Amino acid sequence: MSKKREVNSPRVPIYRDVGFELYDTAIAGEAFRRETENEREPDLFIYSRYRNPTVIAAEEEIMKLEGSAWALLTQSGMSAIDTAVSIFQNGKSTRPWLFFSEIYGGTISFAESVLKNRRGLDIHSFLPDNERYNIDKFELLVKSIKPAFVYMEAVSNPMLIVPDALAVLKIANEYGSRVIVDNTFATPFLWKPLENGADIVIHSVTKYLSGHGNLTAGVLCGNDKELMKSAIEYRKFVGHLLSADDAYRLHTQIQSFRLRFRQQSSNAVQLSGILDQSPLIRRVWYPGLRSHPSYNEAVNLFSGKGFGAMITFDFDGKDASEKRIRRDLFIRSVSAKIKLIPSLGDYRTILLPVESVWGAKYPEPGMIRLSVGFEDYDELLITINQGLNSLH
Ligand code: PLP
Repeated sequence: MSKKREVNSPRVPIYRDVGFELYDTAIAGEAFRRETENEREPDLFIYSRYRNPTVIAAEEEIMKLEGSAWALLTQSGMSAIDTAVSIFQNGKSTRPWLFFSEIYGGTISFAESVLKNRRGLDIHSFLPDNERYNIDKFELLVKSIKPAFVYMEAVSNPMLIVPDALAVLKIANEYGSRVIVDNTFATPFLWKPLENGADIVIHSVTKYLSGHGNLTAGVLCGNDKELMKSAIEYRKFVGHLLSADDAYRLHTQIQSFRLRFRQQSSNAVQLSGILDQSPLIRRVWYPGLRSHPSYNEAVNLFSGKGFGAMITFDFDGKDASEKRIRRDLFIRSVSAKIKLIPSLGDYRTILLPVESVWGAKYPEPGMIRLSVGFEDYDELLITINQGLNSLH
């Protein structure tokens, strides 16, 4: 084995190798034999669909953020979700799975179209009452169906509902159900679910962790080694591993995550107050506003660290048509600075008209979901005021 010369760079190299050199038959045999023993980081890499050193370097950054024993990167948030739930699928003896109903629309479609309709799994949904999850009802449901896992989002999309996550974890634990948390909106800046007993945390890394709207990735993290082994195996068999190039960019971009998110949350807190005061706006959903149905849950769960950087608001109007006109005027007038982009967690503020994405699910046509960026707050305020003034 030739000794490689070290390069004086603090950055992780991009290992674009598909297969890694295994030198001779004995080493090749050893690499394959030990592949399953070497749980997270093999000392001999084999093939980049199995594991890749650049990807592992980026995973280590996420482990530090979530405080997890392992993190596994995938090509999208959806492939992280597929991996996280599929490792609980156990042929005909698979138990029911329970999803909170207020979660990312793509996850709902995946559960309905892939898990239920194609795989024939027993999928259940838990609905909130008046934008708040009733924990007593949750307990009754878990008691009756005894799901293999409960799946929830720490902050939901687009109503920004925060469940009483500690109660959810306690109840799930009592009835032998594991808990998967999609922590994309809250991020480890606000809450680290594994510290409170969650089994798997997933992220659409596409959003805040990468933060520049320029890469698609997902991750699942945890502490349980058996879950990790199943997830490594599933990711390898279905080919969900992130590419080395994306892992390299993530490794760089994630270094500024805390700075970005702190500024984004601070902008959002201030902006939510301004929007809430506007007579043109009927309602603002932001977990940091006392008027939000889950304000208390957010205060308890995030213990003063902030409330995130997503705000949803709804234009007032005498009828649906006037609400739509106001929404569209606002979107047009801020468009030089705030783009209509169907994503979130970008470094700049972007927005999405709720009706165009969710249709009639949320009946208020004036609704806009704002993903607040880290622009200078005063500049952001000028743009928002310009948008509101255009309605007069
Ligand atoms: N989870 C949440 C909360 C999301 O908002 C999204 C996408 O918007 C996903 C998961 C899926 O992530 P991706 O688009 O990276 O597959």
